[in-house]
Amino acid sequence: MDRLSLRLFEEAKKIFPGGVNSPVRSFNAVGGNPIFIKRAKGAKIFGVDNRCYIDYVMSWGALILGHSNRIVVNELKKHLSEGTSYGAPHRLEIEFAREIRKAIPSMELIRFVNSGTEATMSAIRLARGFTGRDVVVKFGGSYHGHADYLLTGSGSGVMSLKVPNSMGVPYSILKDTVVLPYNNLKKVDEFLRLRHKEVACIIVEPIAANMGVVPAREDFIRGLRKLSAHYGIVLIFDEVITGFRLSYSGAQGYFGIKPDLTCLGKIIGAGLPIGAYGGRRDIMKLVAPLGGVYQAGTLSGNPVAIRAGLSTLKQIKKVQRFYYILDEKTTYLSEQIKLLAKKINVIIRINKISSMFTIFFTNQDINDHSSAKKTDTSLYSRFFHQMLKRGIYLAPSNFEANFLSMAHTDKDIEDTLRACAYAFKSLKG
Ligand code: PMP
Repeated sequence: MDRLSLRLFEEAKKIFPGGVNSPVRSFNAVGGNPIFIKRAKGAKIFGVDNRCYIDYVMSWGALILGHSNRIVVNELKKHLSEGTSYGAPHRLEIEFAREIRKAIPSMELIRFVNSGTEATMSAIRLARGFTGRDVVVKFGGSYHGHADYLLTGSGSGVMSLKVPNSMGVPYSILKDTVVLPYNNLKKVDEFLRLRHKEVACIIVEPIAANMGVVPAREDFIRGLRKLSAHYGIVLIFDEVITGFRLSYSGAQGYFGIKPDLTCLGKIIGAGLPIGAYGGRRDIMKLVAPLGGVYQAGTLSGNPVAIRAGLSTLKQIKKVQRFYYILDEKTTYLSEQIKLLAKKINVIIRINKISSMFTIFFTNQDINDHSSAKKTDTSLYSRFFHQMLKRGIYLAPSNFEANFLSMAHTDKDIEDTLRACAYAFKSLKG
């Protein structure tokens, strides 16, 4: 740990709760003090002491092209002299929305917002408005942002809290939220048989990435589509992480399933604040000013964020087999990590899909919230710090995903594997 970061963290703690502006950054889940970042380029981040780290957080998945992508940065430079926010419609919004709809055709109408949290909150309000029902079904270990009624049974930073749900969320607000186990269609079926008339929506991460990476089973995700259609329940895919990550058409393209509403964030802003929700025209027509479901935003459709996002999507499309290349790199990395673990006799499981992966210290399969919670997170913390010492910046919590970007080189991956061998050995020592 460099002394300057330590000093800055002490300063930060005097002005920010826990020294940070978002909980997982604090390293609470793994112990120790966060590195303060000075700059970032490609797959690398540089601490304030100029030490270089190979980054697998990539702004929590937002940076699929890597940090400070040259073309994105040039686009932004060009744009800045044209204004940062208009509070009025502009042409780029249309171009961007069209590009998104081409990729994700289920998003027949789209509304831009400022974050993933806003996207999910707004989609749920809309589903409630459309159905006239109140109950929201979500799954244990998923995270859909920090709206009050979603902070129960949550993953991400909430999974490391010492209390089961967030304080400050009244029970009355949670009474219409039902948490069911991920990957367990039987439980959903049983619940809906009894209470379907009350249920407005099912919101699901089609690949869970906030209890570590936990892919949905095909039968689960297909079953959700079938059941929700049967009961007239709005199916919301929270693709804030998987959108433009799992494939160009997100998880819905990957699985070939059409949800009623979709939420996006992260990659569509290339590291600038943005979110979006959209879906079936008959549902979206209820959003104000067209319909009676109110939702607004001073900075929504921000031209700077859109310019960055648009440039990212254009670059993805220019590279042939973009997702195949990313997947191959990630498969190689995770398979080699497994081999190293076997050789050194460290017991791990890796959940990997596309360019996302999580290493769990366990001999059990991890396919839901309760199995994720049983993994040895203290061993993960030791592993995390050993990797950090050797210049590898992994997710500072076992319940977050690691991400590869197009900027990760073969050398970065080999350097990561070398560090991994040392880190595994040190766990045995
Ligand atoms: N949904 C999912 C699946 C997420 O992973 C996140 C954040 N990691 C959110 C919603 C909330 O997004 P934001 O942090 O941009 O509000």
